[in-house]
Amino acid sequence: MALILNDFGKLNVLVPRSLCSVSDEINLEVNQEGFSPVEISWEKGFISAIKSNPNGVKTNKILLPRFVEPHAHLDKSFSWTDYPNLKSNYKNALLVNLEEHDTRTSEKVITRAENSIELAIKNGYRAIRTHVDTYPSQDIGIWSGLFHLQEKYSKFLKLQFVALAPMEYWTTIEGEKLAQIIKKNDGIIGGVIVPPLNKKKFANLIRATLLLADKYQLEVDFHIDESSTEPGAGIKLLIKILNQLEIKVPITCSHLSSISLLRNGQINSLALEIAERGIKVVALPMTNFWLLNRNEINTPLERPIAPIKQLQNSLVDVSIGSDNVQDSWYPFGNFDPFYLMSLAMPMLQLNPWDRLSLSALFNAPARLLNMEWDGVIKEGCPADFIVIDAISWADIFKCDIQREVFVKGNLFEK
Ligand SMILES: [Zn+2]
Repeated sequence: MALILNDFGKLNVLVPRSLCSVSDEINLEVNQEGFSPVEISWEKGFISAIKSNPNGVKTNKILLPRFVEPHAHLDKSFSWTDYPNLKSNYKNALLVNLEEHDTRTSEKVITRAENSIELAIKNGYRAIRTHVDTYPSQDIGIWSGLFHLQEKYSKFLKLQFVALAPMEYWTTIEGEKLAQIIKKNDGIIGGVIVPPLNKKKFANLIRATLLLADKYQLEVDFHIDESSTEPGAGIKLLIKILNQLEIKVPITCSHLSSISLLRNGQINSLALEIAERGIKVVALPMTNFWLLNRNEINTPLERPIAPIKQLQNSLVDVSIGSDNVQDSWYPFGNFDPFYLMSLAMPMLQLNPWDRLSLSALFNAPARLLNMEWDGVIKEGCPADFIVIDAISWADIFKCDIQREVFVKGNLFEK
């Protein structure tokens, strides 16, 4: 991997107006698909000027900020060949996942992660939050290998790790020790809260995990309510416990699928409570559509997924992520943000020309990972972008796009 160094540059491009900020004196034209023609210049890695290009140079290029992936599983990506889940349901995905643990080594995990990171950079990502399966018998040495990758690729991409453990793990001495290591390396702790939910048991486990996070000032990212049964049972319990504890821990709820099965009034009041507590949500349409409520005989109408529109309307910060890539949970994907975008938008009925749709793919993930730059293109922001041969959204969604990736103004070369 290399960069073609380039101190200065200038391009005439189309940018989505909602992803571009200019001073009030500049009046940008906007076409019916929300694109504005602009001339973008950069210098020493940062955008130095954005000018309107209303009637001037014709362009056949669209510029987008590099993407941030809010939810991945680099530790198991591309394990499908060895561990396929041909039943394609959640229950069997979990069984196959546990089989994979039996032959897991640090080397295998690091190789999978490295292959994934290289693809992700080439395809246009600038950051990834990845969950890493964590269980008592796993070699603790895996973490030093992963932290090494964080450093190795830091020029190209920010990596953020979530130690994804059974909730019980965070009540053990080993769990507390790992929490300290994770804290030292800017990581996050995570767990899984899905039905069947023994409420008493899970109440204790959620409480213990939150108290541990509070003790070490850690963030928490839960896989929660990834289900087509017991709608919202996990998030309701989480909110109940947060009401009992006087702590402030940053929380991400990944999936939150089953709340879409509640009545709209219930969804809206839950959304308000989620917003009030500053809980961020990651919607994961690919795995949810693939696994949940699967029926071999009938095509189900109910396809649970985080109700992104109701959540956004209640001011919850919702990101859209990819989740698994070619493992027992999802057999497809390639760490390509355009694959995600071109499938997720039709699935979720999101218009690419609407600000909130693009926010869920570009700005909310950047906020989730606490990136210095939120992905809005403006003077002074990093020259971190993807330039595509395209003049419309249809061109972007057509699978065989030609793209150039710029990292701090330098063209990325494989
Ligand atoms: Zn996941």
